[in-house]
Amino acid sequence: MLPDAVANQIAAGEVIQRPASVVKELVENALDAGATEISVNIKDAGKTLIQISDNGCGMSPTDARMAFERHATSKIRNANDLFCIRTMGFRGEALASIAAIADVELRTKMLEDEVGTFIHIIGSEVKTQEPAGTNNGTNFMVKNLFYNVPARRKFLKGNTTELKHIIWEIQRVALPNPGIKFSLIHNGSSLYELPAANYRKRIVDLFGKALNQSLVNVMEETSIVKVHGFIGQPKFARKTMGEQFFFVNGRYMRHAYFHKAVMQAYEQLLPPESFPSYFLFLEIDPGQIDINVHPTKTEIKFENERDIWPILHAAVRESLGKHNVVPSIDFDQSGSIDIPMPPKNSEGIRYPDIQINPDYNPFETEKTHSGGSFSKPLTDFRGKKNLESWEDLYQGTQLKFRPEENQHETGIRQPELYTQATEQFAGKKTLQLKQRYILTPVKSGLMVIDQKRAHERILFEQFMEVMKSDSVASQQQLFPQTIELNPADSELLKSILNDLQALGFDIREFGKDTFIINGTPGMLDVSSPEMIVERLLEEYKNSPVDARAKAREQIALSLAKASALDYGIDLKQEEIDHLIDHLFACGTPNFTPDGKKVLTIIPTDDIEKSFAK
Ligand code: ADP
Ligand code: MG
Repeated sequence: MLPDAVANQIAAGEVIQRPASVVKELVENALDAGATEISVNIKDAGKTLIQISDNGCGMSPTDARMAFERHATSKIRNANDLFCIRTMGFRGEALASIAAIADVELRTKMLEDEVGTFIHIIGSEVKTQEPAGTNNGTNFMVKNLFYNVPARRKFLKGNTTELKHIIWEIQRVALPNPGIKFSLIHNGSSLYELPAANYRKRIVDLFGKALNQSLVNVMEETSIVKVHGFIGQPKFARKTMGEQFFFVNGRYMRHAYFHKAVMQAYEQLLPPESFPSYFLFLEIDPGQIDINVHPTKTEIKFENERDIWPILHAAVRESLGKHNVVPSIDFDQSGSIDIPMPPKNSEGIRYPDIQINPDYNPFETEKTHSGGSFSKPLTDFRGKKNLESWEDLYQGTQLKFRPEENQHETGIRQPELYTQATEQFAGKKTLQLKQRYILTPVKSGLMVIDQKRAHERILFEQFMEVMKSDSVASQQQLFPQTIELNPADSELLKSILNDLQALGFDIREFGKDTFIINGTPGMLDVSSPEMIVERLLEEYKNSPVDARAKAREQIALSLAKASALDYGIDLKQEEIDHLIDHLFACGTPNFTPDGKKVLTIIPTDDIEKSFAK
């Protein structure tokens, strides 16, 4: 038999992974207690202090003591109750877990009681329990989380990352509970002050006013499920992941299958590689779902997900239709736009305001491209080692490139093609396929280059070079742009400002969560600095956390991804040539900086084989 304290510590590992888990559990308890006001006050991203107070029902002295026992819950009584859960919690594990691995003070009082209760527990051991004067409701102070689990403590990420997780948790509980007032304070400064509101206002309070005009209402009621919420109009879709949230019965969930239903409803309405926001709330008979499949309850099993899929899809589709955003715009047809027929009842119809220039060419000087254009980086980047061998590939001259040499330098074996380039070509024969691939014959077959990945590699090597050198060119913006971020992104941006400076960005803080972009890297032709910064943050956010150790490299990588040439763009012959030249001037042309294949060769043999019969 393990002593209780040890058992609790083990259980804690599942429920409490980081400070944000404590925030989640305690805020959920406050919701279950019927609170209408919940405030969260944290220090050092929760590593030093997490304090959560609510005006909920409070606990009696006995319940307060009981609450810290494992499997102590007031929310279910038997296994059957598991199938009709209407509360956020039910496992009775959170408080026992938190008390096992931190220093916890609880102050609580029920409305009907004269005096409240104070309990102090450290590492599952009750140090004090006594009557105390305190407000109605409950106040938890959790200090020194993981003080007795050094491995966990060491495993925690930097404050920026941990704070970001806390902000995410707050978003996930605040969204489905707009009628409840929330506040979040970090190191004395207020990150969120959310008054009681309706759903739309809550979304806007969390993610910024800019979202408001984009939101379209969704509402669908069937016997199986009720779906309501908001989705973002396609024309406001961003190059970044956007804010995508599902909730079921007021609980945040991830659901890849339902996500597809939403994304398919947007099919053909979105420019390539852009993402719509959605905030969708599903209400369903609790007997139809199983919440108890995952310790943190973010994975939820639906009895009838196949029936819900089409309902969800149709609900989103219908909302897009109502708002005149559904007409078929097929981005595959290189710029030709189908003008939709007006619906029969054409009263009050506003045509979608989607502006696409069919002649648009990102390489021309006009600046309409989403982020960085592609023309600048391709100048002045010749003369690197692989270039010579690349030209050999076409010209059939003696090979100057020695693979061992390069292998030694980069640690990556170069593809075979470098060693066998002897055939004579009249010049580079290239062809762009599907606005995505560049095809070119090489000695051993047909080489297929992914245009975006190639450009990522090129930009990455340029950025790394710039970061290493002392002199960095910054292009001053004629009209400095301001950018307003949500608190999580704002923290993130602050933490990488110095490195961005080394790349040529000139970005300053300009009030709360607002930044002013005065300059951008000289080597990028940036038409939309806010967009680049937004995309950069998104890329950086989604980069593996371990890679953050090499922060500079990661930033260069994120920026390369954010500013690389997109798919869906026609390239001119010179542009293709440039791309190829610059790619093979790179140290490691055949992989993107994050290790994806840039090119592949279809061997002539394979082509021959396919004609064998
Ligand atoms: P669960 O939420 O799964 O029941 P917890 O360990 O989170 O388990 O909480 C244990 C019990 O403590 C709850 O069932 C509830 O009765 C009580 N409790 C916890 N937090 C609060 C609170 N903020 N206000 C009132 N009661 C609470
Ligand atoms: Mg709970």
